[in-house]
Amino acid sequence: MTHTAFTLGTPRDMAKRVFIKTYGCQMNVYDSARMTDLLASQGFLAAETARDADLVVLNTCHIREKAAEKVYSELGMISRLKEAKARRGGRMIVAVAGCVAQAESAEVVRRAPCVDLVIGPQSYHRLPELIARALKGGGAAILDTSFPVVPKFDYLSKAKAPRGVTAFLTVQEGCDKFCSFCVVPYTRGAEYSRPVVQILAEASNFVRGGVREITLLGQNVNAYHGEGPDGKEWRLGALIRGLAELPDLERIRYTTSHPRDVDHELIDAHREVPKLMPSLHLPVQSGSDRILALMNRRHTVGDYRLVVERLRTARPDLALSTDLIVGHPGERDDDFQATLDFVEEIRFAQAFSFKYSPRPGTPAASASGQVPEAAKSERLAALQLLTAKQQREFNEACVGRELLVLLERPGRHEGQLVGRSPYLQSVHVAAAGELIGQIVPALISGASASSLSGSVTKVVRL
Ligand code: SAM
Ligand code: SF4
Repeated sequence: MTHTAFTLGTPRDMAKRVFIKTYGCQMNVYDSARMTDLLASQGFLAAETARDADLVVLNTCHIREKAAEKVYSELGMISRLKEAKARRGGRMIVAVAGCVAQAESAEVVRRAPCVDLVIGPQSYHRLPELIARALKGGGAAILDTSFPVVPKFDYLSKAKAPRGVTAFLTVQEGCDKFCSFCVVPYTRGAEYSRPVVQILAEASNFVRGGVREITLLGQNVNAYHGEGPDGKEWRLGALIRGLAELPDLERIRYTTSHPRDVDHELIDAHREVPKLMPSLHLPVQSGSDRILALMNRRHTVGDYRLVVERLRTARPDLALSTDLIVGHPGERDDDFQATLDFVEEIRFAQAFSFKYSPRPGTPAASASGQVPEAAKSERLAALQLLTAKQQREFNEACVGRELLVLLERPGRHEGQLVGRSPYLQSVHVAAAGELIGQIVPALISGASASSLSGSVTKVVRL
């Protein structure tokens, strides 16, 4: 398939400006970057704000109700900007992309008539063609939320190198697991793994552009099973080993993983591949087997414990983070207590916890035993007290240690740079700007709830 080039006719039109606002997960961040590349190749420059833009794209998240509602309130503001621009004789195209677009499709236009274009996550490669149609059209909104057979990556992978030191790279998309509470299988579709050759080419391109750390992304990244250059199926462990051979790529991470898909190849990679960083995000969701079964997670607390034991044997300093949901339908006080006990037992370096939010069309939304809002809030507060304490303790245990820090960007204060430790903590150090992109040893002297501070002990190379 070829897509129509985005032609607006005159050279003056080449200076159109686009503003993309990204909500939700890192996969949306990656998608927004690819949309930016694609639109730049069509002559679009980046606008600082929606006010300055001819094209506004909201790349949305539908995972919880709050995330979706934020989009509608933003659209209210954008509608006013669009009207003001029309009064000045200009034109603004408003596009809603991402998971709200996929899940709500025509409902988006019904609730926000200012929207010209609703585009699901599998159709981004068609953006130029759809924008051209919206510009030509008589004002009716265009909806494209199909799951095309030809994957978008075939069109988007000629990505430009990102500007930073670190980059996300989507290797897997979609999910076949159908957890009771989750919209992802409906918004992102079935599991798809990109071929290894395509991923290596994109990673090499990133590295040539100065990227030193790549985080491999997927809704279920460790369900990755892409076609290898040898024609065989490669799992994530093999892909990581392949990427580790790129000479100037210093660090590899991946997220988000499912406990059921942690196989021995991946565990061996944690033991044997120095470039694979010792941090892992492994959502458990609940510490109660009864709730895990209701969630259709297809693992038990015991399974999770075993996986963690094997990972920690392979890589004893592994910093483990997780996701937890409180108040899933059917959750009783004793289930919640089991979650607290399990968190206490495993000890997480970081945890993200959420109140269960019913998502239309998912099995849990219509299940009996919905938990009252007040109980959810109470449980969330108690859980977050515990996880914040564990995070602080994990950070404090780093004080006095020398950690290798990849310096990423200037800090808030003059003469300060911010980087990441191998364990994904932010580290603030006093250092000169030209060290951005370098990995330096830093002696950690301070720890707060969410970051570390220290001083560079030696510049390894310039
Ligand atoms: N694939 C990952 C996994 O298997 O756990 C999860 C990806 S999801 C985008 C990120 C997190 O959002 C989940 O781990 C879960 O904790 C949370 N989440 C998903 N649906 C939710 C809902 N309906 N209410 C509250 N939190 C939810
Ligand atoms: Fe959602 Fe993750 Fe479950 Fe898939 S495995 S349905 S993405 S929570």
